[in-house]
Formats: sequence, structure tokens, C-alpha cells
Amino acid sequence: MTIQTVMVIGAGQMGSGIAQVCAQAGFTVKLNDIKQEFFERGLGVITKNLSRDVEKGRKTEEEKQGILGRITMSLDLQDAADVDLVIEAAVENMEIKQSIFKQLDTIAPKHAILATNTSSLPITEIAAVTERPEQVIGMHFMNPVPVMKLVEIIRGLATADEVYQSVEEMTRKLGKTPVEVNDFPGFVSNRILLPMINEAIYALYEGVASKEAIDDVMKLGMNHPMGPLTLADFIGLDTCLSIMEILHEGLGDSKYRPCPLLRKYVAAGWLGKKSGRGFYVYE
Ligand code: NAD
Repeated sequence: MTIQTVMVIGAGQMGSGIAQVCAQAGFTVKLNDIKQEFFERGLGVITKNLSRDVEKGRKTEEEKQGILGRITMSLDLQDAADVDLVIEAAVENMEIKQSIFKQLDTIAPKHAILATNTSSLPITEIAAVTERPEQVIGMHFMNPVPVMKLVEIIRGLATADEVYQSVEEMTRKLGKTPVEVNDFPGFVSNRILLPMINEAIYALYEGVASKEAIDDVMKLGMNHPMGPLTLADFIGLDTCLSIMEILHEGLGDSKYRPCPLLRKYVAAGWLGKKSGRGFYVYE
């Protein structure tokens, strides 16, 4: 199947990045959100990224305008009626994702592939609300999307081989490297990353060291480009908490229990960089 038109659902941190890389690769993109202001915020981030590329000589002004010209606003899921692929990147909430997939199943053309960028929710459970579970798949991009090379491609229980192949090919066209993963809680990336972040939060909670010291140990001692607490702020502490809950529930092992300090920060609205405050304060 040839993919030409893509709908990206959710114009937040991830959705705007996904829309950008799809438009850069020449695909026509409909960027969907629930309010025009959210679309505009996402498009603003894309425009800023592209302007930086122009300043640094990585793109011409003409290329930038071409990319922006391929992205159109959508505030209605009915716009999925003529797309080949949907990549859903709305909030990490099973009810919301299932409701979106149920609607898409009735709107999108029969051949269309429905992908989700979920960090941790079971693909199989999202697919189960549709009449086309063999065309539902996980496309897990990394943050920031325009920079990070990896896309974890997650096969749900029913995902068809040809759907996997189409998505793998599409991923390569985006300039990314696909890695095949099966549908288990946290997939590979978050199964390993989030328990490490949660442990760093425990170390802070128990007073083992300051936040700066914890980040320095992992940066300077383990060669991580960013400390785990800084990384948590970038991912979003609400997203981190929800992934830990899913690992805890899905794998049934107490070693995945979320740190109480993480819960407290989320309850306070300290969600990291996106809210201006998490473990660190952002101006
Ligand atoms: P975000 O909060 O920045 O953006 C979510 C966007 O979805 C918002 O603009 C919101 O208005 C929109 N939205 C909510 N409900 C919607 C609906 N019904 N229809 C259309 N749009 C809707 O979140 P994010 O960090 O971009 O995460 C999005 C998804 O990507 C989540 O599933 C998350 O787990 C996953 N993810 C996040 C990261 C990360 O590092 N943040 C990495 C990989 C995957």
C-alpha cells in the first residue's frame, strides 16, 4: 500500500514533531486537535524548528515554506475520510484513545492503517475496539521527534504482516530507524527507561543526593546525554507517572510502583518543562 496522506491526532509535543517529520518527507499532513489554539501552538513549534534549520543552513526558506504548506489544520475526525495512515498522539489515556480509534474505524477508508504513538498502553486493547485490528499498530516515536532516530514499531496481537511492512517502509522514508517490538507493557524503551527514572526519583525522595548530583552521576559517570530527572521533566511527569502505573498493573510486580514524590509533583501540577516546573524550574 502506498501512503500519501497522513492524519496526526494531537498537536502537542509529540504530534507536532510527527507532523513535521511527515511533511519534511513529502507527505500531505492533516494535524488534528480539539481546539484551534492547540493546533496553532503545535504549528508554532514546527515553524520555530524549521526557522532554526534555515538559520543554520540546513534548509532553505523555500523548503521551509514547502513543508509548512503540506500541513493543514483539522478540528474534526471526519477529515480522516481520505487518509492512508493515521498516527494518533493524543493524551496517554486509554478511554480517550479507544474513543478516537472507534470513531476513526468508521471514518477512515477501509485500507487505512491506524497507528498510535502510545508510550505504554496495550496496542491490542486499542485495536480491539475497531473492526480492523489487523490494521492497528504502534508507532512509538521518541522525543524530540525531529531529532531522535528510533521508532519502536509495535505489533498488536492481530497486526498483519503487510501492515507491519508498510509502516516499517514509511518509517524509513521519514529518515528514522524502525525496531520491531511485541506488545508488552512499556514495550522495550519504557520498560527499561522508566524504572530507571523512577529509581532516580526514589534516590531524591530518600535524600540519597540532590537532584543535580543524581543527574551528574548519570551524565558524567554513565555517559547519558541528560540526567534522569531532567529527562523526566522533558518527557512530562504526568506521562512518567502514567507509564509507571501501566508497568505496575500490567506486569504485576511491586518493583514498578511509582515513587510517592512523583505522584506528589503531578498532583501539584508540576509536570516538568511543559508546565514551567518539575524537578527544575523553567523560565
Ligand atoms: P501533549 O500533552 O503535549 O499533547 C497532547 C495533545 O493531544 C494536546 O494538544 C491535546 O489538546 C490533544 N488532544 C487531547 N485529546 C484529544 C482528542 N480527543 N483529539 C485530538 N487531540 C486531542 O502530550 P505528548 O507528550 O505529545 O504525548 C502524546 C502521546 O505521545 C501520548 O500517548 C504519550 O504517551 C506519547 N509519547 C510521549 C512522549 C514524550 O516524551 N512526551 C514520547 C513518546 C510517546
